[in-house]
Amino acid sequence: MYTLRPYQQEAVDRTLNYFRKRRSPAVIVLPTGAGKSLVIAELAKIAKGRVLVLAHVKELVEQNHLKYESYGLQAGIYSAGLNQKDSQQKVIFGSIQSVAKAHDGFFRDFTLLVIDECHRVGLRPESQYAKVIEQLRHNNPRICILGLTATPFRLGLGWIYNYTLSGEIKTQELRFFKHCIYELPLQYMIRNQYLTPPVKVDTPVTAYDFSELTEDGQAYSMTQLEEALKRQRRLTPLIVKNIIHITDSDQRQGVMIFSSTVEHAHEIMEHLPAGQARLVIGTTELSQRDQIVAEFKQKKFKYLVNVSVLTTGFDAAHVDVIALLRPTESVSLYQQIIGRGLRLGTDKKDCLVLDYTGMGHSIYGPEIADKRPATESVAVQVPCPKCGFVNNFWGILDAEGNLLEHFGRKCQGGHPHPQTYEMTPCGYRFRFKLCPKCSAENDIGARNCHRCGSVLIDPDEKLKQARLSKDMHVLTPDSIELLERADKNGRPYLQVKYYDYDANALSEVHYLNNQTSLKKFKINFLRSHMKKPELGLNIRRVSDVIDSQTALRMPAFVIARKKGKFWKITEKIFREEL
Ligand SMILES: [Zn+2]
Ligand SMILES: [Zn+2]
Repeated sequence: MYTLRPYQQEAVDRTLNYFRKRRSPAVIVLPTGAGKSLVIAELAKIAKGRVLVLAHVKELVEQNHLKYESYGLQAGIYSAGLNQKDSQQKVIFGSIQSVAKAHDGFFRDFTLLVIDECHRVGLRPESQYAKVIEQLRHNNPRICILGLTATPFRLGLGWIYNYTLSGEIKTQELRFFKHCIYELPLQYMIRNQYLTPPVKVDTPVTAYDFSELTEDGQAYSMTQLEEALKRQRRLTPLIVKNIIHITDSDQRQGVMIFSSTVEHAHEIMEHLPAGQARLVIGTTELSQRDQIVAEFKQKKFKYLVNVSVLTTGFDAAHVDVIALLRPTESVSLYQQIIGRGLRLGTDKKDCLVLDYTGMGHSIYGPEIADKRPATESVAVQVPCPKCGFVNNFWGILDAEGNLLEHFGRKCQGGHPHPQTYEMTPCGYRFRFKLCPKCSAENDIGARNCHRCGSVLIDPDEKLKQARLSKDMHVLTPDSIELLERADKNGRPYLQVKYYDYDANALSEVHYLNNQTSLKKFKINFLRSHMKKPELGLNIRRVSDVIDSQTALRMPAFVIARKKGKFWKITEKIFREEL
């Protein structure tokens, strides 16, 4: 029969534990090559009632079914595209299109629904998935719903589930899936030699610039992508030449090239050696695609170009170069594409990753929903001072790997309700925007105060207005100077001077001589200037601030207003606010 790997057994155990106590839909995240079919097989074996395994394309239905039967198990298929409509077996592999049209009798006695590639399931009540789930629940209100995916994060939507079992809140917006009950990192698979190690080649000659496409965290359109590529057309021949050069000089066996659009794919084909390259696009006939893939596996040609077609359900173990020429919206999609080259193969010790997207995704990094604030930022771990939850944020490390600064906003930790398992967020904010009216702490990106509803003016708008006004000055600081001064009564105060590249300066003044002024200083200055805002600096006098200068950061912009002969700083805007 089959033997489960330790992590597959763990995924099964977690699933059983979860559904013992609750019925909200759950997700398991497994990278490509983790052997999800074994997890499905084991769950199907244990399940008391019938099991329905759904996928969105017939190829995947067929592949999952084949894998399942290869363990010596029997299951039916319900898919018009595969000319099979079994409805009697305990386990049925179905395509969502066909099952959505099945007669009422089909839905009886199911106790477990498994949805493959479950990131496609949304909340629209008229969707095929919604209809099927409604039918299944109608027949069995206590049916367990388990989703499987390698990509739990989608551009435009964000996380496809609400919570992790470790107590992390991914989103509080409505999601079909409530919990992620198991997630296996790609790194585990490689470290334990279930997959070939990827080697990121650092110096591709050049890279496309796709930054504008993903800037606002929204999904982009094909037209936008085509526009971006059109402007960068001259780069394609150089990039393809680089791929060929690396493939030849390193004697690589098989190269998969992921292109952005069909036009782009044809352009890439023009520059690859004739007879050594084939193309698969969405409209390629299935029989022809199968033949191309078969010949690729037989190594009859070296370069396989595709447009978003072969990101899932494709296996050619000999692939040892992955070339990315298409933007990847999420780290998980990026990792999934690289996964195409990580199957163990003969005469294969690693897989080269040639990334021409300039997006700087990490092969092992966790997904972080916040926009990456600076190119030098990496994923860092920051414990919450209030609840102890260890957050994944963007941050900056020094050469020794110590955390210098991070851009985390709000603690992602939470406490589950013992009965409902709904999570109450910890709520601690590392960085926030104070409401000018009621002083409530708001998210950096908030447009309105969550307490009083006042409009919180967008920093970009503030900058725009300041630049247009002749009574206002916008300074881009290049350095900061902290000075101890004394007023005419001999009272010491802190002067903070900001200088730009041309040595223009703006300055602000803080008194620290009593509890009230110290408190004001903490709110008005320290909180936003600390590189790690969760740390408490013990400040009692001006010299304490000067001694702590390395823990402080500069704003991205300082805005000042003219008051008589002087300029008074009215606003400071920090990097994460833009
Ligand atoms: Zn917390
Ligand atoms: Zn307010």
